[in-house]
Amino acid sequence: MPTIQEELDRRQLLYSLLMPVMNLYVPGMDKGKGLYFLFVKSETKTPGGLLARPVLTSYYKSDHFKTRPHDPYNVYTSPNEAILCPDSFHSMYTQMLCGLLEHKQVLRVGAVFASGLLRAIRFLQLNWAQLTHDIRTGTLNPKITNPSIQACMTRILKPDPNLADFIAAECSKDNWEGIITRIWPNTKYLDVIVTGAMAQYIPTLNHYSGGLPLACTMYASSECYFGLNLNPMCKPSEVSYTIMPNMAYFEFLPHKPNSIGATRPELVDLANVEVGKEYELVITTYAGLYRYRVGDILLVTGFHNSAPQFHFVRRKNVLLSIDSDKTDESELQRAVENASQLVLSEFNASVVEYTSYADTRTIPGHYVIYWELLLKDYSGESLSDEVMSRCCLAMEESLNSVYRQGRVADNSIGPLEIRVVKSGTFEELMDYSISRGASINQYKVPRCVSYTPIMELLDSRVVSAHFSKFLPHWTSERCR
Ligand code: AMP
Repeated sequence: MPTIQEELDRRQLLYSLLMPVMNLYVPGMDKGKGLYFLFVKSETKTPGGLLARPVLTSYYKSDHFKTRPHDPYNVYTSPNEAILCPDSFHSMYTQMLCGLLEHKQVLRVGAVFASGLLRAIRFLQLNWAQLTHDIRTGTLNPKITNPSIQACMTRILKPDPNLADFIAAECSKDNWEGIITRIWPNTKYLDVIVTGAMAQYIPTLNHYSGGLPLACTMYASSECYFGLNLNPMCKPSEVSYTIMPNMAYFEFLPHKPNSIGATRPELVDLANVEVGKEYELVITTYAGLYRYRVGDILLVTGFHNSAPQFHFVRRKNVLLSIDSDKTDESELQRAVENASQLVLSEFNASVVEYTSYADTRTIPGHYVIYWELLLKDYSGESLSDEVMSRCCLAMEESLNSVYRQGRVADNSIGPLEIRVVKSGTFEELMDYSISRGASINQYKVPRCVSYTPIMELLDSRVVSAHFSKFLPHWTSERCR
């Protein structure tokens, strides 16, 4: 995405509004620190010689971030040296270590997206023994060889056996429920985006945080930063973002899901959108994008003064299609949630991660959904085929009538399949994407996969596969 120097000022302006807004709802945030897992990525050059890097890497490497004046509301436990270290293991290790050392000062825990925070928890699960060793002895893990991190940790790290004992005692328990508040007892909220595709993570975050509030503070993209949530303590399902009119020139394409072939609707200006209507976001940016379709569908929920507020509905793409059916991200999400609620909750299990694939190699083709499960009840190692095939059916029942018609009346879609993958598979998927150039901060689990190496990776981790054994409900009336 093209960007220009002055864009940083605009982004800074948005960032600088977040804590004053938060302070209206959660006072005292200047009395402690934020534990944020923030990462940079290595840079490349375009064929024309321009620097190319993810938007957040640009921000963290800018003077706006590196030489920011002291602001008691924005003090992080992570030193700049750790955030700016391009090696993701060194960076994560140091950020976690510093967060543990200052566990009582931490008032909020966050990452850009929910997936990043869960990755940090997983990292703690895998590395707590070494981390507590470092805290006990006051020495840094010899694997951390980055010189600026070493220099900075020499100043910070002092032996603290009591703290090491405390953390080791918590981390060695089998049950990690509420681990965030157990280790960082003064945390008031989690600062992570869980709207849109990230809603999938809400149950897992609730599990690890014991139900702390989830603050979705801002809505932004590589192309442009859009706006902020003026009521950040509201429930994730009620989040609306207020678009800041000075970030770009905003226009809106009225969104009518089934209007293919109809006359092209007129663009509507920011001030003229109507409450209750859905629009596709179109931006003209200072950096040079002209009437660019971001691909996000937004619903107008109200106004703050004259600035409209939007609920993020979804990205405008179809994920799965076998025949004339079209399943988008939010439908798939709902289907996973329903199956999880109707079937898995009975067994104290939940879906940690999922992705999908339209398998058209078989005739008829069918939907394949990869599930990584969290089994909270340690007595059961896996769920039976009978339970899993009920999950398949529950998902099918939640899909739209065109899908069910294809299954029942047309026989153009085969039974939905769930492939259960080993715990940690989606972590490996993320590692793979990062090794191929994805940014840790901006990484989002693809909700649909088709790239052969990724499918091979997923398929090699499959523990069991299950199919829907019955047809979902469908009547012709419903389709009219
Ligand atoms: P990227 O440019 O890779 O950071 O992706 C930007 C996209 O992420 C946006 O266009 C949205 O689809 C999604 N996104 C960013 N912020 C939010 C948010 N607060 N809620 C939901 N989706 C978001």
